[in-house]
Amino acid sequence: MEQKQTSEFNFMNKVHYELKRYSEFNTSNREAYQNMYFLLLSKIDILKKNDKQFCKNRFIREFDRYNIISKCVEPMKCNKCGSERYSKKLCSNCILQYLRSLFDSWTSEDDELDKFIQECQTISSLPRFILEWVSYEQFKEIEYFAEGGFSYIYTAIWTRGSIDDWDEEKEKFIYMENQPVVLKTLKGLNGKELQKIYNEAMNHCIIQSDFLVGCYGITKDFQGNYFMVLGRYSEESLRKHLERNHLNFDYGHDDANLVVNILNGVRPPIFPEMPPDFRKLLDRCWNRDPSIRPNIKELFSFSIKKLKDYYKDDMESFIQSLSSQCATGEEFSPHLRQVPYLQQTNSYVHTSKVISAINN
Ligand SMILES: [Zn+2]
Repeated sequence: MEQKQTSEFNFMNKVHYELKRYSEFNTSNREAYQNMYFLLLSKIDILKKNDKQFCKNRFIREFDRYNIISKCVEPMKCNKCGSERYSKKLCSNCILQYLRSLFDSWTSEDDELDKFIQECQTISSLPRFILEWVSYEQFKEIEYFAEGGFSYIYTAIWTRGSIDDWDEEKEKFIYMENQPVVLKTLKGLNGKELQKIYNEAMNHCIIQSDFLVGCYGITKDFQGNYFMVLGRYSEESLRKHLERNHLNFDYGHDDANLVVNILNGVRPPIFPEMPPDFRKLLDRCWNRDPSIRPNIKELFSFSIKKLKDYYKDDMESFIQSLSSQCATGEEFSPHLRQVPYLQQTNSYVHTSKVISAINN
């Protein structure tokens, strides 16, 4: 992949995901989905030729990965290792053998951590979901970004980048190169907290979802602090994401307080601009009585229905809207932008309000 600037990288990311979402929510099978994506891409005239190629390659990689994960295509027998494979491009077992052959070539200088990373690689040897030990020298432009409830967050550029694909012929990985990432450490790391890093990293290998922010590896700075190497969206959405998920866990200062507050009925705020059906669902999710809470199936079909609604424009309008935002370099997503609560910068001042309400 050619080298890309951070802003360009983020920009192409957004275009790619908009095209994917629109295609996904307006087609009913995998083949039509693929065709729709390529058709849309060909119609966005404002994109340069190599940008289109970037999107196309990326789509093919992700499409292929999905086939492997979901096993939704007929398996083939691998000519190299003889095991079943679900992609013409790559074989998870061949990659696993390759990763194993590298076990002696890297070390975190901590036996337990080495074993953990090896275990993760054995669980998942699929590009994007391979956890690696990453040398700290591969990061540049490391900047302090924010302090969360449990962690310090830094942004950085990973010069080599995460594993994006596998070149079967040359038996080597293809890397993202100059990839914007987040380095996240846990404060005052002790054994128990290191375990949290382990669990979070392991989950990423097990779940294998493109919807999750990638967890690509573990690194250690020159002072001996461990970091998780995570994928990252644009600066603005990163800040929003952190505000929503890390910075404002201000329910109480410790776990005991948090439990008491929740028992007392403290809940995150429901914004007045949230659509009524969404509000109702949230309310049920937070109900004291578990039998009233919706199950995962209901939540899933609710979300799909919502997304389908946001992407229901006819194709020409969608292309026009996306093209004009590409031209102005405006922050998009064109559709999600219409949902005000996703843009809301949360300030969780409700805690004290609710508690005082209870006290009164
Ligand atoms: Zn194989």
